[in-house]
Amino acid sequence: MSLMPVAQALDHLLASASAESLPDTETLRLEAVLGRVLAKPLRSAHDVPPWDNSAMDGYALHADDIAAANQTGLPVSQRITAGMAPHPLARGTCARIFTGAPIPGGADTVEMQENVTIDPQGLAHFTSTLTPGQNVRPQGQDIRKGSILLEPGLKLRPQDLGMIASVGIAAVEVYKPLRIAVLSTGDELVEPGHALGPGQIFNSNRYTLIGCLQRLGQQVIDAGILEDDPEATRKRLQSLAGRADVIITSGGVSVGEADFLGETLRDHGDLTMWKLAIKPGKPFTLARFAGTPVLGLPGNPAAVLVTFLLLVRPYLLRRLGVQEVNSVMLQVASGFDWIRAGNRDEYLRARLEEGHVVLAGNQSSGVLSSASEASGLVCIPAGTVVSKGEKLPFLPFEGLFD
Ligand code: AMP
Ligand code: MG
Repeated sequence: MSLMPVAQALDHLLASASAESLPDTETLRLEAVLGRVLAKPLRSAHDVPPWDNSAMDGYALHADDIAAANQTGLPVSQRITAGMAPHPLARGTCARIFTGAPIPGGADTVEMQENVTIDPQGLAHFTSTLTPGQNVRPQGQDIRKGSILLEPGLKLRPQDLGMIASVGIAAVEVYKPLRIAVLSTGDELVEPGHALGPGQIFNSNRYTLIGCLQRLGQQVIDAGILEDDPEATRKRLQSLAGRADVIITSGGVSVGEADFLGETLRDHGDLTMWKLAIKPGKPFTLARFAGTPVLGLPGNPAAVLVTFLLLVRPYLLRRLGVQEVNSVMLQVASGFDWIRAGNRDEYLRARLEEGHVVLAGNQSSGVLSSASEASGLVCIPAGTVVSKGEKLPFLPFEGLFD
């Protein structure tokens, strides 16, 4: 079986995610929807700003009085602060006005206070050339009443919440989080906090995966550890399929004799993808068991992180209706030589140092400490060698966790 290129695997994953039904929705107050995905278009019932207002602390006047303002000066007929309702401005006068305060009826021009002097008689003298309409923020400049504010499928960011609030909307309809079962396979696994017996290791993948899912704001169903046994595997998948939207597993999908998860998915499920041209992460598996999608991640801890970020994350986002699932990718000069071309796209744990990307520690797929030292992943596409200074794609972790 030849290895499937990563781009093709991603297309397949996204198509498969798009074919699933979207989660139910719920309406939540703005304070509670950061990072949630908008389910319905939002339309503005207001102009923003709701009325013309001043962009400056200064003086408002009629454009027709500009000449008088420059020559003889204008009396100040009212004082308008933010939050006040002004009177119409009498011709031949100006209004003291402050940033954000409504422009009085008739006025259409504001001069900043630095360019205005008040003489002992209280007349305001405008010392610079004025342009009609200057320093006025017109009604609806930001958002027009009736316009579509945001389209569904957007993962809400702080600035989106601010914009929604600016049109007076207090609650929005968002998708409920996916219920995601996290299952760690392996007879050798022990939870941290317990003593290690002979041949045992601590379960680290569970925590990496739960952390990734928490950063994505999804609901984790903690399915614990599964022993390497075909009957137990079948039963556990069966019971999880009934209560999870997705099952994410680690381990047991390679070609070893104790890799019962892959075997069970092949024999009793519907396996649609296995063995990718990615390093680490070759055994990554997509299948369906009793109607529920199963994303089978390799057991090696670094492969779990890499395949989650590159394959599982976009899949989950698409399940939530998010269209834009690509992560931030920078082009950064390589700080190292890579002399052996591989037959898989290689994702190396790396960090940025003085404008270059450098490798972080040991790159074996079982090594997690180098991921902790790293600030992202650098990609070396299959079949390429790299010389110092050549540009390489670098994916910062921060762009991959949300
Ligand atoms: P497997 O794919 O099940 O053969 O696992 C590959 C490697 O990953 C083995 O060295 C396992 O011991 C290790 N491994 C599997 N699951 C975990 C886990 N949850 N935490 C840490 N290491 C694991
Ligand atoms: Mg195993």
